[in-house]
Formats: sequence, C-alpha cells, structure tokens
Amino acid sequence: MGEKGLKQAGIEEYALDARLLLEETCSTSRSDLFAHGDRQVGQEQCERYLRLIDKRKRHIPLQHILGCQEFMGLKFKVTPDVLIPRQDTETLVEEVMRILRDGMRILDLCTGSGCILLSLLKYSNSCQGVGSDLSKKALLVARENARSLSLSAEFVQSDLFENIEGKFEIIVSNPPYIPSGEIPLLMEEVRDHDPLMALDGGGDGLYFYREIIKRADRYLYPGGRLFFEIGCKQGAQVSSLMEKAGYGEITVYQDLSGLDRVVTGIYIG
Ligand code: GLN
Repeated sequence: MGEKGLKQAGIEEYALDARLLLEETCSTSRSDLFAHGDRQVGQEQCERYLRLIDKRKRHIPLQHILGCQEFMGLKFKVTPDVLIPRQDTETLVEEVMRILRDGMRILDLCTGSGCILLSLLKYSNSCQGVGSDLSKKALLVARENARSLSLSAEFVQSDLFENIEGKFEIIVSNPPYIPSGEIPLLMEEVRDHDPLMALDGGGDGLYFYREIIKRADRYLYPGGRLFFEIGCKQGAQVSSLMEKAGYGEITVYQDLSGLDRVVTGIYIG
C-alpha cells in the first residue's frame, strides 16, 4: 500500500523507503519483518504509517521524517537546519583518517551536523576537534550529535575562520559547492529541503574554496593538510587554486562511483 503510493509519487527508492517507514512505525528491524511478516498492524500504527508515507510522497526526505542519518556507521541527528550527511562524504573522512595521528588538532569548516568532525574524533584517540558554521541552528544539531556519541568537540559560530583561534594539523571542509545557477535543477528533496546556505557555492561554485584557501595558511602548522570535498567537476580548478597558494602534494581522490570527490594538499609553510 505504501510502496505503491510512493512509486506513483515518483519516489525512486520507493520499496526501500516504504520498508524503512514501516520499521519506524512498528519500531521493528528488517529481520523482525522477515520473521513475523504476517503480524497484524494495529489501527493506530496503520494511520501513523500512512501519515509518514504521505510526507514522503510530498518528497520530504526520508532523513527528515526519521530525524536521522547513518554516516561512517554512526547515527546522526538530522533536521532541516543541516545538510543531510551523504555517503560521498565518507570518502573525505576516509582520506583524512589515512593520515590522522593521535593528538592532532582538527578544524572542520562548515560543519553542519558535525558528521565529518565527529566521525574523525570517534575513530581516533585524543584528537582535538573544532567545528565552525555560520548557522547557529546547525551548531545546536552538531552539539547534540557530539553529546549522543559521547564525544567532546568545540563548536563555534563563525563565518569560516572569523572566530577561530590557534593552529591545526588538519583543516577539513565539505563547503557549499553547487553553482548558484544549478540549484533550481537539483532534485526536489535537495533543492527544497536541504538548507540553501549549505548548497550554494556562488556563481561558479568555488566561492568557499577560494575563501578558505586564501586564509588557511594562518591556521595550519607547516606540514599540515587541507582536505576538501568537491563537486565531481571541480578537481582541476580546486587543485589549481591550491597550487597557486603554494600547497604541495596536491592529490584528487575519487568516491565509490569513481567520480572526483576529494582534493588534498600539504601546507609547506
Ligand atoms: N559538513 C557537513 C556535511 O558534510 C555540512 C556540509 C555543508 O553544509 N555544506 O554533511
């Protein structure tokens, strides 16, 4: 019943979404559904399920209906005030993890839900993390995520480096990078439900890379590394911005679909 409605509404992953909404309604897991597939659902649960299906039919993202998203095997709270964590961004976290050593200081610019910084802290020992975002509402979500994962990180309201002090071994960012003119072409779930300020990278999509690269040298220790997530066509441009600013060992990495997704370089000092 739910599946059909979602399919008719043009929801691509209609079967998966219907199952996850059913599991949410009944507080069950996939294996429960397999083992007790014939169990009856009460009237109240049925109505709740249909309300959730109705929301999804209106293209409200599943993550906003469920209130969470898994990222790097961890559960993150998600609200309309933060970008929904994407699987592509796990590539960025994994690349940082390759060079992350105990005790390093990490700065995550445009932290949103905090998913990048908090995953890095979860999978390392005694690193110190600072996350910054322009949005106060996003920072409330990031702090709540830190609490629920039992991690301590400092979250600072800041326009990029504006209120940031000290130096770091690692600066990481998944900044807004969609060229403004392409925003109307995004799928409805993203265009109408992710925060615009988390998507819009200015006319050519590169505004935040320019701003961050311009000032990152003052916040990196010599030998420190800058890591960016990028749009799949931005590898050459972001690499060239870093090269002009004097970074070394500039490398582009691909995501699981084979698309350019991460650029990193070393601050020589
Ligand atoms: N750092 C957050 C994430 O990757 C938010 C990114 C953003 O708002 N552009 O999910």
